[in-house]
Amino acid sequence: MSEESSRIAVVFGGASGIGAAIATRYAAEGWRVEVADLPAVDVTDEATVAAFLDGVLASHGRLDVVVNSAGVSTLGLVTDLDVAEWRRVVDVCLTGAFIVMKHAGQRLGAGGTIISLSSLNARQPGAGLAPYCAAKAGLSMLTEVTALELGSRGIRVNAIAPGLVVTPLTQPAMDIPGIEDDYVANTPLGRPGTPEEIADAAVYLATAAWITGEVLDINGGAHLL
Ligand code: NAD
Repeated sequence: MSEESSRIAVVFGGASGIGAAIATRYAAEGWRVEVADLPAVDVTDEATVAAFLDGVLASHGRLDVVVNSAGVSTLGLVTDLDVAEWRRVVDVCLTGAFIVMKHAGQRLGAGGTIISLSSLNARQPGAGLAPYCAAKAGLSMLTEVTALELGSRGIRVNAIAPGLVVTPLTQPAMDIPGIEDDYVANTPLGRPGTPEEIADAAVYLATAAWITGEVLDINGGAHLL
């Protein structure tokens, strides 16, 4: 088996939506894929994340690609939002990403790579999405800092920032009349994306040997408007 086809990938948040599409796509590349998701693996629980990665290393003998697609959101204006709800979203989307990067970074060797799911909302504010936007903006910067720190060990760290992709996460928003029409009207390519289109980029970033610290916009051009 070639080095490339024997890759071991872990996808946190890989049971649904974009993470599930990435896991399927990696498996189609011939890579061995381990999915980590609730309830067994909570990215906000450091000991669980560390133990899961140790288990992968013990059973496969190597670790090459770590994706963090775990994410949650909430709808509420800043003036209405409970602090507990703010903390829940920031805990999963930012602190959870930090925990995954910390423990992946400790265990990956040269050639290893980490890919996080940021969002168009990291750079484009959405009313009613304050904790999500703030956490994703933090995640984009965390990606750059971690890339800076791990580069000398030959570990690449990147993120994908999707625009609107229809998944269980976004379905509640899609049910609000006019949301999809607004996105379509403000997107040069005129449609939401698919999880498979994000998975294509996750293969690219996992194999693009000279890209690190990149937050890749995949949104049909919505960041241009
Ligand atoms: P999804 O809800 O379909 O999948 C998210 C997965 O994360 C679920 O399987 C869920 O169980 C898991 N998860 C949630 N909390 C977790 C935790 N504490 N520990 C472990 N796993 C946990 O959502 P999706 O749309 O596929 O989103 C995937 C990622 O892409 C998220 O980070 C999201 O913020 C990001 N994103 C999505 C969109 C979109 O339009 N769908 C756009 C931009 C960014």
